Amino acid sequence: MRTETSLGNVHTGGCHCGEVRYEVCGELHDAVICHCNLCRKLHGHVSSYARIGKDALHLIRDEGLRWYRLSDQTDRGFCKECGSSLFWRPVRSEEVAITPGTLDGATGIATSGQIFCADKGDYYPIDPAIKVLDC
Ligand SMILES: [Zn+2]
Repeated sequence: MRTETSLGNVHTGGCHCGEVRYEVCGELHDAVICHCNLCRKLHGHVSSYARIGKDALHLIRDEGLRWYRLSDQTDRGFCKECGSSLFWRPVRSEEVAITPGTLDGATGIATSGQIFCADKGDYYPIDPAIKVLDC
């Protein structure tokens, strides 16, 4: 759900069970699909991320939130109760990314690109309508 406030657009979202709820107060970038093996392992298929500034993310309820250290560079945020994948956080960055599927209702964003196409699974095609980005 997106509502207009004096602060601009506010998006709300959360996990399936409700133990993690969040607001994004600020710009929500278009989503990028990642085909890498790591994302497919974590999500069960390709993943999609929408970048936001770290300051734009406000946790309303975080009882279920756990951070999984993927590498020395990134963490993944998920709900320990229902398993929803919610956040991806580079350790040394002022940005975090949310998984747009966890937003409530219409997001107002688009999918602007896809990355790690060469690493994709062999069980699905690449959508040629989505721009391939270098990363
Ligand atoms: Zn949950």
